[in-house]
Formats: sequence, C-alpha cells, structure tokens
Amino acid sequence: MLPPGSTIGILGGGQLGRMMAMAALQLGYRVIGYAPEGDNVAADACSAFLTAEWDDADALARFAAACDVVTWEFENVPVAAVEALPSRLLACPKAALEVAQDRLAEKRFALAHGGTPAPFAPVGSEAEFPEAVARIGTPGILKTAREGYDGKGQWRVGSALEASGIRFPGVPCIYEGFITYETEFSVILVRCKDGQTRFWDSTANLHEGGMLARSILPAGALVEAQVPAARDLAARVAEALGYVGVLTLEFFATRDGPVFNEMAPRVHNSGHWTIEGAATSQFENHIRAICGLPLGGTKTRFEAIEMRNIVGEEALAAHAMLAEPGEPHLHLYGKAEAREGRKMGHVTRVGHALP
Ligand code: AMP
Repeated sequence: MLPPGSTIGILGGGQLGRMMAMAALQLGYRVIGYAPEGDNVAADACSAFLTAEWDDADALARFAAACDVVTWEFENVPVAAVEALPSRLLACPKAALEVAQDRLAEKRFALAHGGTPAPFAPVGSEAEFPEAVARIGTPGILKTAREGYDGKGQWRVGSALEASGIRFPGVPCIYEGFITYETEFSVILVRCKDGQTRFWDSTANLHEGGMLARSILPAGALVEAQVPAARDLAARVAEALGYVGVLTLEFFATRDGPVFNEMAPRVHNSGHWTIEGAATSQFENHIRAICGLPLGGTKTRFEAIEMRNIVGEEALAAHAMLAEPGEPHLHLYGKAEAREGRKMGHVTRVGHALP
C-alpha cells in the first residue's frame, strides 16, 4: 500500500486527470501532473504540474524523480514518454496503451480474446480504400487508426460512389462496417494487481455527432442481457494486459449480441455518474487500485441515474441548472474557452435511493 503523503504522477492534463487528482487528494496523496502546453485543467487539482513536451527527456526525468507511482488519464500519451520512465513507477503495463492507441490493434486484441468487433479492414493507403469498401461493404465508416476521438477523424461511407469522393486523410486508417444497434453501452471495471476485479453497472450511452451526450441507468433489458458476455470479454482483456486500474470497453447492443467498439485504458466519460451514483467512484477506485489500497464497492445507489455532458457555450449558464428539479450535481471542468463541441462539464441527476 502506498503510504499517505506519497506522490502520484498523472500523464495528461484534462478533466479526467482533474477528477482523478481530486480523488487522490481526498485519500491523502500528493499529485503531480504532466502534459504539454494547453488548457491543462487538471493543474488546478494538482500539488504541482509540469508543462513540457512528451519528448522532453529532462522534464520526464524530473517528473519521475518526484513520483512514487505513475498513471495516465489520456490513452494517446506517446508510448516513448512512458518508456522513458522507470518501469517500477508504472501502475499498469504500457501494453494497455499500445493496444488502445491503435484501432486495428484493439479490434484484433478483442477478437483474439473472444470478442466480436464490427467487420473491419486495414486501409494502409488511399489505394487500399476501394478494396476495403468492396470487401466489407457499405454503409461503413472510415476511421484514422490512431488519434481520433469523439467522432473526430471519422467519415461515414454510404456507398462505393461516396467512398470515391472522400479525401483520404493520408495516415493509416481502418474501414469498418456500419453496425445497426439498439443502443451503446460501456463496461467499466477496476482491477488490482492481484487480479481482483469489480464492475460498475453498465449505462446506456447516447451519442450525438460521434460524442457521448448522455449515460443512463437503468440501461434497459437488452443491455442488461448483454452485460455478462461483455464483462467476460472485458475481464479477459484486462487479465491478458496485466491491467491495473480502471478499464473501459465500449459496445453496441445489437439484436445478435454485444459488438465491441473500442477500449479506453482509463477512467471514462460514461463512468462520471459513479461520483454520486455508486458506492465508490471510478476515480477513487482507480487511485485505490494503483496505490494498492483495498477497493471500494461499486454498487449503484439509486434507482435511476442520468449523466449529461455540458458542451460548448452551454457551460456559461450551467450554474442555473442547480435550481432545476432532480437533485442535479454539477461538475464544471474550469476550461478557459467554451468552444463548440468541447466537453466543459457534466451534470448528474439521481432518483430514489436504493436500500
Ligand atoms: P468511436 O470513436 O469509434 O467510439 O466512434 C464514435 C461513435 O460513432 C460511436 O460511439 C458510435 O456512435 C459511432 N460509430 C462508430 N463506429 C461505428 C460503427 N462501426 N457502426 C455504427 N456506429 C459507429
């Protein structure tokens, strides 16, 4: 067990790091953040924050010297930056990042562990695109293999003709068949070094424009029926990676069962409801797992829960939401600019406490 007063290093400076740092402070730890220049809203909640590029060897060495354990809040931290840190500091093996950074690698990994992803084909260059569309069929989605998030770096393809009109992004891509689904859901687990694993209830996740808009509990009968198989896959993936901390897998609930979409080796937007809605939040259990503390319970505390993201300028009037019915719990991330499509905060409403 990492003693109180020890220092947790967090790679990445966004809202996930901010909420992780708040949980760490509550447990008596110090937190040092590390991220390149940007709107690093995690810094507000950190004891110290190092603003440096991912390839700044001196800064990474200073960061490492100050930390007792290191985690990340962002899956696109370059693997080289993680490799520059002494491996004894890493709470979780870097393999989790390597797999999750590449859509092809994560789909192959899920397949290898018994999961069912959407039909897919690698598209290494523009020349391979028509062949991939012919093989997988339409409709489909072309996605950059790396770096895309919240629907960015994605192009819907309605027909082969439409595919010929898409300006190929010039980086390796993946082409996926379009899945017809009833709803999306996520499995969020926390795993300790000794393999002990706990799951939170799975929310139904509603996306708008490729970005999560709302997460809802109860998730409905179809999701509930598919959760056991989805959890089995998530547990096998976590075990294969030697995973420590919170891991998220996202699924489409289809009539034929759960289709794996992607994984995030970190706390997840669809788990923000756990702050008020579960016995222990995803942030706290992540910190507990990486520090070797006993895990907290993951039981849902209310009959109904809704987490809604606050996006762009909506944040400017967010305090007024506190007067609305349904016990809204407001979380604003302190971002400087309320740009369109930017996650600025979230609000969680709960109904009827469970006994
Ligand atoms: P992703 O970045 O892969 O999570 O994609 C963002 C969102 O786009 C997903 O949450 C879905 O709403 C939608 N989407 C992505 N891939 C597919 C697919 N193969 N079929 C249908 N919808 C998809």
